[in-house]
This record gives sequence, structure tokens and C-alpha cells, in this order.
Amino acid sequence: MVPKKDADLERYRSMRDFSRTPEPSGARPRTDDEPQARRFVVQRHRARRLHYDLRFEVDGVLVSWAVPRGPTLDPAARRMAVHVEDHPLEYIDFEGVIPAGEYGGGDVIVWDTGTWVPYKTGDPRAEIAAGELHAEVHGSKLRGHFVLVRRGEADERSGKEQWLLLHKKDEHAVAGWDAEDHPRSVLSGRTNDEVKADPDRLWRSDLPAAQASVDLHPETWPAPTADDLAALDDLGPAGTWEVHGRRLKLTNLDKVLFPAREGEDPVTKRELVRYAAQIGPVVLPYLRGRALNMHRYPQGAGSKGFWHKQLPDHAPEWIGRWDNPEADPGETTTYLVVDEPAALVWAANFGALEWHAWTSRTSHPHLPTYALIDLDPGTSTSWEDVLLLARLHRDAFEHLGVRAQPKLTGRRGIQVWVPIATGPSFDETRAWVERVSRTVGKVVPDLVSWRWEVRERGGQARLDYTQNAINKTLVAPYSPRAAAGAPVSAPITWDELDEPWLRPDAFTVRTILERVAERGDPFRTVLAADQVLPPLG
Ligand code: MN
Repeated sequence: MVPKKDADLERYRSMRDFSRTPEPSGARPRTDDEPQARRFVVQRHRARRLHYDLRFEVDGVLVSWAVPRGPTLDPAARRMAVHVEDHPLEYIDFEGVIPAGEYGGGDVIVWDTGTWVPYKTGDPRAEIAAGELHAEVHGSKLRGHFVLVRRGEADERSGKEQWLLLHKKDEHAVAGWDAEDHPRSVLSGRTNDEVKADPDRLWRSDLPAAQASVDLHPETWPAPTADDLAALDDLGPAGTWEVHGRRLKLTNLDKVLFPAREGEDPVTKRELVRYAAQIGPVVLPYLRGRALNMHRYPQGAGSKGFWHKQLPDHAPEWIGRWDNPEADPGETTTYLVVDEPAALVWAANFGALEWHAWTSRTSHPHLPTYALIDLDPGTSTSWEDVLLLARLHRDAFEHLGVRAQPKLTGRRGIQVWVPIATGPSFDETRAWVERVSRTVGKVVPDLVSWRWEVRERGGQARLDYTQNAINKTLVAPYSPRAAAGAPVSAPITWDELDEPWLRPDAFTVRTILERVAERGDPFRTVLAADQVLPPLG
């Protein structure tokens, strides 16, 4: 008997909240005339525990076993394999991140994939029902004859059956072969760590599976070429530079904008302009479609800066802009919107040392896309104190099952950004963040003040929830800060909170590009604005 596909998937669905997990819901109907080749996949999945999910295509679903130690080609080895619920076919090439707190929350790579043949009877459903599946596997890593054997009845508590996975003695058998010696994805060549640090995909499972994939790199702009950069270096103190498809008039390029750090040269405007052109493609997804408040220091970071929000009349016509329909008399009417990298280069030349994008989009200025936590150190707050507060927030979000990303401010603090689905007002996100932070603050009352006035805080840190308001901003990821050496606000991973080298100004315009090239951009997941903030008990 062939079980109905929907019945197979019922259990899978019942274990997941598809409004939150990025896994596909399997809603796409499968037609009988799709190709007959049976596919298989092995996904290396770091959830609460590392395991390998071995999945065979059978009758339009992926029949699945979780193998803690991974499959092996060693014919002398027996691997425990827990028969888990069927997965939808759409899951077969899923590589990315599943939100923390969800069933299976963690990171997933496509460790191996290919085709398979049920070589013994040709009827895999019957073999599985009988407790012995024979599979001839043609993958990149796994080859040859595998057998899965049921070892007993379903576990009373979990309802899951224990099976054994083994490889037959055939020409593909390799003694001592261990899956952990072959850790990279066959799709992307990346490890779980690398995918976790810069995932390409999340899934919006509240959408039909065919549309569920959220591309976290929606538009890629090429980096400036070596020739582009050489042309900038060759300009005198002023001139016209062609980059990112635009011609930009640049001025005062040799002016020092950032004082030197000890042992380094000061940072000139030419270097800031160069950095804006190079980081532009990386930072664009965080700026696009949002008003940008510029913090300008035309005389450099050593002098007094000021907020500049009004887009000047002399800005080129192609520069993106937004007219605020609610501007009161005397308020800013027209804002810069960086919707292409060249606009950021223009802003740098305009003396915008810091880039602060709105946390709402111009399309819905009253609806935030992030909830923001700003760990704002006081005069007597040490870096260790800031780290402690950040780790406590990490624990809180893990406990709540909320996806959040930390970021160094480039000054002394750390921020945490929580991406949310459009819906809550600023009042609501502010109240939610205040509740979280007050709960965290109770753990370390000596470190935290709730007083508004800085001088009344006794040097203690402030967990600042008040930035969750319209036209209040935090510094954008990868923005420089107006300080010696041009530090940047660098996104980090939660794990890096425990790194001994970590400092709030650890990265500068001179070092962050290499980090992004090597490690990717750990902030990408904030672009998937799919979370509903859980109620706080
Ligand atoms: Mn799994």
C-alpha cells in the first residue's frame, strides 16, 4: 500500500510552527509525471546535537533517518539511525539556517546528494514496512550498497524507531571511513560554521513552499575593480571618479578625516571614499528603502559633528530620496535613501562619517522592521561588564527562541538587532525590549541604571530601549565611527562574544573588508524579517 503523501507529512507539520521555522511546509503538490529518478540527500545538521539526516525520495516525500555519527563506507561499522518523520521534497536542497527555538533550530548543509536505487525488491515502501531497506547509492561521498535494518519497536516516549545503518562489503567499501573527515557541503563547498556565519537562505514557511525561500543576497553589486581603485588613487586632491556605474565629483581627498591610532597613519577622505565604494555592496541591503540620517564631520572626527538629515539641493539627480509627508514646518523634508552603492560614496564625499538608517522603511515609516537593544556603557562600565550584559541577552533570546544578531558599536558598546515581521508599532517593540532588558537587568542590578539623566546613572550602563521610535536610529552595520583610526560598527556572531580578542572597536575601515571576505557577513539573517515577537510571561 502506498501511503498518501499528506498523511506522511502530517506528522512533520504537527511538529513545526510554519509561521516561524524556515523549513518548507511541503505545500507544493507533486504530479505523477515528474522524473522517476529517485534522489537522496544527507544533510549535516547542527541542532541541539550534531547529526546527519539521511533522506531517500520515496513516493514524493523524503523518508528520513537521523544518524548521530553519520553514514560511513566502513563495512565493519554499524551506525545507529533514528527513523524520523518524512520531509517534503522541497527540503532536498535546503542549506541554511533554521531559527533558534524551532524544532531542529540550527544550521544545515547539504553534505551529500545524488540518486539511489532500491536494488533488492524495487518496492521501498514495502521494504521499510518490513524493516529492511536496501539502497544502492550514487552520491559524491556515499557510494555502494547500504542497508537500513529496524532494531525494534518504536520508543514509547518519542514514538521513534531505532534502526541500524551499514555499508555492505562491495567495491566502494573503505575501512575506517568517517563522515567527520569530509565536512564540506557538496553544494557550496562550505562548512556548517561558514553557512551559519553567512547563510544564503532562510525559508518563510508561512508562505507556500514554492515561495518560501528567502534569498539573503537579493541583489549583488560587483565590488569596485582594482582599476577603479587605482583611478581613485590617481586623482589629485579633487576630480571625477567613475564607480558603481556613476560619475562622482570628489573633493578634498587628501584631507585627514580620522585622527591616527597609535602606530598608524591618519585616515583621509580618499580612504573613506574608497571604503564606502568597497563596503557599499555589503551594506546596501541594510540601507535600501530607508531614510538615512547622516552624521557629518566636514572638519574631521576630531572636530564637532552634527546631524545632517536634509538632502542638499546640490545632490545629483540620480541620488535616491524620500519626501517625508509628515514633516512639520522646520523639519527635514527630503531624506537621502541609499539604494545603490554609488549613493554611499556620494555621502562619504559629503562628509558623512557615520551612517544611521531608519529602522522602518519609507513605505511604512511607522512600522519598525527591527527591535533594537542598545547596551550603552556608563563611565564606570568595563568591557567585561558589556560582555556580561550581551551574554545575558544572548541567553534570554535563546530561551525565548528569538533570532537576534549582535554588533559591536565601534565605540564602547554592543547592540543586538532583532528582525521582526511588519506589524507591531514602535510603542509595542519598545515595550517588548524594555521588558526583556529589565528582566536581564535584574540579574545584574549593580551594573545597570534605569535613570534617564546620564549624571544620575552613577557611571552604570543603560539598557537603552528608547531608540525603538520613529526617526530614532542606531548606527548602521559597517558604518565607520567618528573616532581615531576609523573604527566600524562590526557585526559579530554570538560565539565571538567569548573570543579573547574581541573589543568594541576591534575592526576599522582598514580591516573589516578582509574579515567580510574571509568570514562573510554574520548580520544577513536580520534581513529575513519574519519573526513574531513572543509574548513575555
Ligand atoms: Mn535533523
